[in-house]
Amino acid sequence: MKKTKLIFIYALVLFILCSCGHAPSQDITESATLSSSQTSSSAKESENLLTNESATQNKITSKNTTDPQSAEGYCFVTIDIRNIKNNINILKSEKKPFVTSDGYILKETKVKISDGDTALDILKKACKENKCTDNCKYCENGIQLESTYTADYDSYYIEGIHQIYGMDCGSMSGWMFSVNGTLSNEAVSDCTVKSGDRIDFAYSCNMGADIG
Ligand SMILES: [Zn+2]
Repeated sequence: MKKTKLIFIYALVLFILCSCGHAPSQDITESATLSSSQTSSSAKESENLLTNESATQNKITSKNTTDPQSAEGYCFVTIDIRNIKNNINILKSEKKPFVTSDGYILKETKVKISDGDTALDILKKACKENKCTDNCKYCENGIQLESTYTADYDSYYIEGIHQIYGMDCGSMSGWMFSVNGTLSNEAVSDCTVKSGDRIDFAYSCNMGADIG
């Protein structure tokens, strides 16, 4: 019985092998070739991807050291008092020594971002690390900055930069800021910055109507 069964199975296997002929084995070979070429091409692709990635990384690294416009991990800060220059006749006279000749306290400057940095954190760094465009005698230890906490809003606002305070240039004057060209209505200490952001702190003599 057992022998018969074995023979039967053997015959069956033979039959299957014969009837299928070479075709399936070719199929297998082809698909094997295909899959191996696919593998090698996808390996090549991922290799290319890696090369591209490292090229990009190299680009970024080299950009950080050579190109001031490189954005990764940095934002760009400007402190602008051009409106004061346009309204110099109404500026409190004791504040005139703090007005720089080019209308900027700080021209666009790259500032490194740490995790969770707000616009205020960035401004603090920018002021600490830089001097005004005139490199005046008041800027020996960086640009003066004063921000004040308001419990009502649970946030900070900018009182003065480079000794120029709100209301120093008319009753509607004060510091405002914009992010990527849009005037922010968020508190400076609530606005989280991201890589590449352009943060402009500008003094307005007309509640923001003269900014932008
Ligand atoms: Zn100065």
